[in-house]
Order: sequence, then C-alpha cells, then structure tokens
Amino acid sequence: MSDGKKLTRRHLMGAVAAGVSLAALGGALRARAAPSTWLRPPGALPEDEFLARCIRCFRCGEVCPPRCIEFPSSLALAESDTPYVIATDIACTLCMRCGDACPTGALVKIEPRLDVMAKQVKMGTPVLDKDTCFAWNRKQPCHLCFDVCPWQNQAVRLVTDRLAPEFIDDKCVGCGLCSEACPVEEKSIRIERAP
Ligand code: SF4
Ligand code: SF4
Ligand code: SF4
Repeated sequence: MSDGKKLTRRHLMGAVAAGVSLAALGGALRARAAPSTWLRPPGALPEDEFLARCIRCFRCGEVCPPRCIEFPSSLALAESDTPYVIATDIACTLCMRCGDACPTGALVKIEPRLDVMAKQVKMGTPVLDKDTCFAWNRKQPCHLCFDVCPWQNQAVRLVTDRLAPEFIDDKCVGCGLCSEACPVEEKSIRIERAP
C-alpha cells in the first residue's frame, strides 16, 4: 500500500470517528420533541406519513400570506426543519395555499371553502382554561375568540349569562385564530396538535 493510500485511509478513519461523535453530539443537542401546541399546517398527512413525505423544501412557508409557518431547527432530527404553525404567535388564516404549493403531497390540496375545510382540516383540538379566561372568571367581558372564528356557533358558541366561550371539538378545525386573538397574556386557549 502506498503512503498516499495510508494517508487517505488514516484521514478517512479520523473523519468517520469525528463524524460519529459529531452526530452523537448533534443528536443530543436536537433531542427535543416539538411542544404539543405546535401545529402542522392544514392538510398535513398523519404524522408518520407526513415526516416520510416532507422534503423540507420550505415552499409552504414561502407562500403563506401571514407567514405563520416556521421551520424550527432545534428539534429531534426527524422533526427538525419541518413546518409548524405556532398559533399563539401567528395563526393560520386557512387560505390553503400551502397545500397547493407542497410538491410531495405531505400537505394535501384542500379547497378553501368553509364547508370543505370543516370536513377535511383538523390541525388540533382547542383546550380552554376557564380560570384565566376573562369571560369565565368575570374580570371583564370578552368574546374575541368567538368574533374571529370562521365557524361561529358551530366550533365555538357563547354560553350562560356571561357570554363565555365553549368549544365544540368535532366542529373545530384547530386553526388557532381564537388562540391568537385571546388577550390573556398566557393565553386561555391552547390548541393541542392533531395526532
Ligand atoms: S392555509 Fe394559508 S395561512 Fe394557513 S398555513 Fe397554509 S398558507 Fe399559511
Ligand atoms: S411544501 Fe411540503 S414538502 Fe415542502 S416543506 Fe412544506 S410540507 Fe414539506
Ligand atoms: S374554535 Fe378556534 S381553532 Fe376552532 S375553528 Fe374556530 S377559531 Fe379556529
């Protein structure tokens, strides 16, 4: 074996060793799973199929008018750089452009009509904290969540003499507009991601 070949092999072994330790370090740094309140964009396939199909091309984020899609890179490798909507910051306005732009079918195309979306979109489930909700704890009248919902009196209705919100999960698409609108600092409504 020539000196050149020995050198190459030594370098290769060193690179492999360095690669393994870097990968292990990267894995440790990125072991975090996404919080359950980070939502997939509308039309996402079930999570395992979504992760198998998403090629992290960022096109869904590029076409999103409110720029509500983020691609966090500090997650476990399988989820890293995939699209999430963090609705408490910026919610999805249900334009359905992301599904049109997705080249792999990880997000399916859905017609942006209320009757169609009501059947085909399920980003998550709303969970209300009545202790902090202004309408329920009587700190002040408030029904902003009701006002912004595209499915008023179906996905959310106002109940009791307090006109306080109540959510109907099987009519709610989980867009998060109500959560974004909630004026309570720590948000009285959270949307738990669909499985
Ligand atoms: S439906 Fe529209 S607003 Fe919602 S995530 Fe997709 S592109 Fe963004
Ligand atoms: S457009 Fe589709 S494939 Fe590209 S990052 Fe978004 S979900 Fe993934
Ligand atoms: S209740 Fe909230 S999450 Fe559900 S459809 Fe209405 S605004 Fe969207």
